[in-house]
Formats: sequence, structure tokens, C-alpha cells
Amino acid sequence: MALIHILDPHVADMIAAGEVVERPASVVKELTENAFDAGAKNITVELRGGGATYIRVTDDGCGMAPEDAGVAFLRHATSKLRDERGLESIATMGFRGEALAAISAVSRVELTTRRRGDAEGTRVLLEAGEIKDMLPAGCPEGTTMIVRDLFYNTPARLKFLKSDRSEAAACVLTALRCALGRPEISVRCLRDGQEEFFSPGDGRIESCVYALLGREAASKMLACAGENGGVKVTGYVSSPAAGRGNRREQYFYCNGRFIKSALLQAALEQAYKNTLLTGRYPACALYLDMSCAAVDVNVHPAKTEVKFSDEKTVFDAVYYAALSALAGEGRSAAVEPSAGTRQMAEPKKDFYRTMTAEDFRKSGYAAAPAPRPAAPVSVPAAPRPTALREEQLRFELPVRPAETVKMPEKPETAGISAPAGSKIVENPVQNVEKFDLPDHKIVGEAMKTYLIVECGEELILIDKHAAHERMNFDRLRAQERHIMAQSLLEPVTVRPAAEDAELLEQNGALLSELGFELEPFGERDWIVRALPADMDAGEIAGALEEICEKLRRGRSLGEKQVWDEILHTVACKAAIKAGWDTTPEELERIAQEVLSGRVKYCPHGRPVAVRLSRKDLDKMFKRIV
Ligand code: ADP
Ligand code: MG
Repeated sequence: MALIHILDPHVADMIAAGEVVERPASVVKELTENAFDAGAKNITVELRGGGATYIRVTDDGCGMAPEDAGVAFLRHATSKLRDERGLESIATMGFRGEALAAISAVSRVELTTRRRGDAEGTRVLLEAGEIKDMLPAGCPEGTTMIVRDLFYNTPARLKFLKSDRSEAAACVLTALRCALGRPEISVRCLRDGQEEFFSPGDGRIESCVYALLGREAASKMLACAGENGGVKVTGYVSSPAAGRGNRREQYFYCNGRFIKSALLQAALEQAYKNTLLTGRYPACALYLDMSCAAVDVNVHPAKTEVKFSDEKTVFDAVYYAALSALAGEGRSAAVEPSAGTRQMAEPKKDFYRTMTAEDFRKSGYAAAPAPRPAAPVSVPAAPRPTALREEQLRFELPVRPAETVKMPEKPETAGISAPAGSKIVENPVQNVEKFDLPDHKIVGEAMKTYLIVECGEELILIDKHAAHERMNFDRLRAQERHIMAQSLLEPVTVRPAAEDAELLEQNGALLSELGFELEPFGERDWIVRALPADMDAGEIAGALEEICEKLRRGRSLGEKQVWDEILHTVACKAAIKAGWDTTPEELERIAQEVLSGRVKYCPHGRPVAVRLSRKDLDKMFKRIV
């Protein structure tokens, strides 16, 4: 082995850089946080391509004196921490004095800065951490940092970058996380000159949530507040009805810093324990405020992991705050942004939108093959909350029509506890034909959710969504790998998260077997031309998100199991929903399926029906004892 020697500082910087600067998004994070620390009110984050070639962050903060502008790039150069005592109570985002050194070691940096009140500013040019030029410059007060050609001198790292699309998405998400943490600061994010988001900086969390997470998500949030042992919690959590297929929309902040924390995740999810189905996750924007001494942020260079000195107190603070928000659902106000915010945010952030014919033409996709001619759709008679007009939908003939309906391989035997005094419908007769159906009468539908059927001496309550979901699931399974599809006359665009986009790309064949016809459209959007029959266009984005999550989680499972899991999603998204109007014919069909014994449990194992006998009722009313 060769003799030990101390690394050249330049090489050491390049190695250390790897800890702080993993990808372009790390640069976005460090520069934005520096702008926060500089007391900026307005910040603009701009990137080109995936960010590796160009990132610019402009702020109107305190700026730097000429003598500091060069020093800032030295390792451990910081204006924020003086001695070890400061480490106990860090109030700024940065403190290690590492970021600029790390970033400049692996890129070409141009810094232009002017301290508030100074007559002129300074420009510093660096390459691979070395100052190439430093000169006075005319510039506004504040700081502009441009980082070009990230990793140009470390090809090994460059090789690990993902596609521009993924890197840009990560940059935008990082900037968004920063912005959501600071409602008092206005952050604008542009990619290739196009605005990705803009937070108003009016100091209101609700404006921030509305502008950054979008109108749709904001409308399903519940205000949340609580305090426990010096830990203050404020923010918003999603209503149980708006559960997500993954945890991506969980934003936690501790003293203004975005953090990832299994503890907080667990506390939040615990609060939803009996209100969200397994596999669904709450969304949140939760802000924890506590003494800086009660939390250690110096665990990892990226500072997204923290250590709480009293985990139980923090857990309880979040758990009870979320719980009380849920308990007060209906009473607690959902996000109500100011008119200004609404106007500003509305056209920009809609998770999915319907393309107009005009959009479609302009997009250059007009040359794409027109939807195949098909028979017109059988229009659902009842109005549905759909973004598409019904005439926009058309059925496509199934590739292989399902002739025989197969029963699920084995009857479900989930352990379900029925409410006292009732028993779950248990019809031992499988495969009963229609003419074997017992005489019955649909008495009505309660709360647009439960179908009430009188059948002999029994009253049967049917959860129409659960039952329909099971019917769909069995039907889909019987179609094997050729799910009936419907073409959309006007395609819909969706914007999946970067990781999802990759999965969509890899699983094209599977998606087309499911009835989806979709392809990338532009940098980040996907265009959807067909979807599984019966699914509402408004469900596409959610369905794809759930499918991707199942593909991810299912990597260790067998192919068949994953396919079944995915069919659950399709069945659920194509099922009539509680709260929707349902036609008498549809209700009758559901009642028949349940009475025949074919449909007993929804694909998640919940019962679809509860049966009350005359005896049960008589007992309840004390007619008999
Ligand atoms: P840290 O943020 O941990 O102090 P950095 O390497 O990120 O370390 O920054 C080094 C120093 O450069 C900061 O402490 C600060 O004094 C100065 N600085 C960096 N960015 C800005 C900015 N946008 N405005 C004013 N000063 C800045
Ligand atoms: Mg910093």
C-alpha cells in the first residue's frame, strides 16, 4: 500500500461536494436557502433543461460586500455560525459554510451581488472552485447566482444524472418544498422561460398551499392546529376522502426547514387510522415550531433529516393536531385563498385538464392518428361529476369480448365484524342464475350511498360503490389481459411525477392491456387517448398515480398479484361512487348481483351488504325480547 498523504484541498472539496451536491436539485435547494437566509422577500429560481447546464437564483436579500463575495466560496466560510455554541440553536437554513464551496468545485459559477445601500456591486466568476475573475459590477441590490455546467469536471457524476425531464422535475419539486415552507416569501420558479409556480409571499399558509399544491388539493384540505409541550403545529391536512396513493404530498417543516421524518409520517397516519383505507395516504402541509435547541438539524449535509430531542412530544403534537382537524371536519374551514391568489394560481396548477380541439391542433399532435372509429357510448343516464361531456366519450370494441364470466377463484373469507344485531349477507349458493333470485323490492337509496332492499323478511343495506367495485373487478378479471377500452374524442393530458413517468414508460405494454392508450407529450405531460371502459376521465390522473405506486410496491410480489392489485384500482376508479346519482336500472343490477350471492365483498375485503332480519328489527324496537 502506498504512503498515506493528505489530499490536495481541491480534491477534498470535490469529494466533499458529493455529499452536498448530488444533482441539480441540490443546487436549487442550497441557493434558495441562502436567499432565505439573506432575508429576501422575492426569489426567482430559473433552470434550463434539467438544470445541469444552467440554474439561476436571484434574490433581493442583503447581498454581499465585495470582500465577502470571493470568500463565500471557501470551504467552511459562513456568516451564520461563529462557534460551537451556535450549533445548539441554529435558526438559519445554512450554517456549515459548505454549499458554495461544494457547488463551485464542480461547476462554473457566476455571482453578482450588491449589498443593500452600497453604490455598486461585485461580480465573481469561478471555474472548478477557482476564482477566474472578480470585478465591480452595476447590479440591483441582492444576489444573483448562476451555476453552469454542473459536474463538467466530474464525468462520473454527470453520468449518474437522469433524463432532463427527471432532473428538472426534481429541481421544481425542491424549489416548491422550499417555497411552501416560507409563506412570507414570494418564490417564482421558471423552467426554460415557462413559469412552473409562483407563491404570493403574503405570509398566509393557505395562499401558499393554494398556489403551490393547486386548487384541487387545497379544496380538500382541513385546517390543523395544535400545541404540545412547546411544539406548535399549524397547517393543513387532507380530508380522508382525498387520500392519496403515496406519501408524496406530505410536506413537513420544522422551523421553516423542509424535513423528511418517519416519525412525523407515522404520527400523521396514525391519526387517519380508521378513516383511510390501507394503501391510501394523507396529504399535508404541516409546520412545526419549536425551540431550536429541541431539534438537531446537523445530522446529514442535506439537512432534510433531523433529530428531535423528545420524539414522543413531537409525535403527540402532530397526532393530536391532525386528529382534531379530522374530528372537526365540516366545521374547520378548508383552504380559502384570497381572490388575488386564486386568480394568480388558478390557470397554472391543475393536475389534469381536458385539451380543447384548439390546444390539440396547436400542439402539433394533430398529425397523430385519430381515435379509431367506434360505436357511440351508452351514455350514463345520471349526471356524473365528470370533466368531460358525455358525447366526448366513445366505446371501443373489446379486442376479445368476454364471453364467459368467471367466478373469482376462491370465495373471500375476510374476517369482518358486522355491527351488533346484524349479520353480513352470506348466501351459500354460488353462481345463482337470475331466475333464482328471491323476490325483492328496492325500497330506496339512503345518502346516495346505501341501497335499501326488502327481501322476504329481511332488510338488506348495500354499499353501492363497494358492490359495484367488486362487480367491476370480477368482470375485469374475466377479461384476462384485454380490458375493454374507451377512446376519448378529446384527449386528456396528465402530468405525472417524474418517478411515475419513468414507470409509465417502462410499463407501456401493461398499460395498454389495461385499456390505457397514452404517450409522453412534451417534456413532462402525457397525453391519454383511451382509458379502461367505464372509468371517468376525471379519474385518470389518480388511477395512474395509484397504478404506479402499486407497480413500485409490487416489485417483490408475483406478476399475478400485482395485476390483481392494479385491477383493484381500475375497478374502483370505474365504479359508481357514493354521493353520485345512480339510475334505478343500475341500482337494480347491483341488488341482483348481491342477492344472487355473486357479490359479497369489495376487492379490499369490506362487506358490500349488511342484512337485518325482522327479528333483528323487532329486537331493536323491543317488540320482542
Ligand atoms: P452557509 O449557508 O452554510 O453559510 P454557503 O456556502 O451556502 O454556507 O454560503 C456561504 C456564505 O455566503 C453565507 O454564510 C453567506 O454569508 C454568503 N451568501 C451565500 N448566498 C448568499 C445570498 N444569496 N445573499 C447573501 N449572502 C449569501
Ligand atoms: Mg447555504
